[in-house]
Amino acid sequence: MNKLLESVIENNRHWTQKGKLATYIPELAKMNSDTLGVSIITLDGEEYYGGDYETKFTIQSISKIITLMLALLDNGRERVFSKVGVEPTADAFNSIINLETKSPQKPLNPMINAGAIATVSLISGKDGEDCFKRILNFTRKITGNPSISINEDVYKSEKTTGDRNRSLAYFMKSTGVIEQDVEQVLDVYFKQCSIEATCKDIARIGAMLANDGVLPWSGERVVSRSTAIMVKTIMVTCGLYDASGQFAVEVGIPSKSGVGGGILAAVPSRMGIGVIGPALDSKGNSMGGIKVLAELSKELDLNIF
Ligand code: GLU
Repeated sequence: MNKLLESVIENNRHWTQKGKLATYIPELAKMNSDTLGVSIITLDGEEYYGGDYETKFTIQSISKIITLMLALLDNGRERVFSKVGVEPTADAFNSIINLETKSPQKPLNPMINAGAIATVSLISGKDGEDCFKRILNFTRKITGNPSISINEDVYKSEKTTGDRNRSLAYFMKSTGVIEQDVEQVLDVYFKQCSIEATCKDIARIGAMLANDGVLPWSGERVVSRSTAIMVKTIMVTCGLYDASGQFAVEVGIPSKSGVGGGILAAVPSRMGIGVIGPALDSKGNSMGGIKVLAELSKELDLNIF
């Protein structure tokens, strides 16, 4: 399998030249655009690697599935989905238009920035620091990696340049979606996006979801089966922003991308996959990462449809 992964990486490395690093968060522009790596964790405990799998990257929007699970654990389904919808969007991940014209009281889904900011505002904690500590601890648990932490430079970079997210959040405060202090909610959001991980870490989260909410390496249940199924469903419909339909056709695996170049994939009952390729396509998804997943899906017959 390691041989297969190495060849899939080498077959697809040329795609990285067609993508571009995210520059709207200045610190992300410092990544190496040739990077391409993959890690697979199977439900029976095997681990496989290929390419630049040791590269560390910030998980960015991949954090949105972590905070969705935690918000559901804290509040239950009814409250969470009274604040945020589950409908896909044809607009960009940081678009503001739907908030005003379609659904001022409810961002469309928890995978776009507006929906993720609304979701994180629901997570319990006596203050922002406490709330983020809970997110970090939950991330450490579901990756099985107690040393996960944030990349301070990326966090500062996001915080200083995050005016688009600020405008989404203040708009949602004005319509009652966000009830807390906006700057505190945003600070937690910027931190969750700046959590640093490797392919293996995100593959482990994928393996937990593939295993319906149970950590395959310890047998511990962290979320209910119905929550795991729901999160995977939202990953299929909304996980790659406004390219989710194309990705479902090309790859057919529940996945979540981030502008740091990571993609987390959960193949039900089989494996978690993590890929990294910081060169992005025009929708903000990893250019090489999508191609690697497409080839793996074909080679290993992973398409869930
Ligand atoms: N921190 C990024 C932002 O808020 C996350 C976006 C993403 O990964 O899609 O713009």
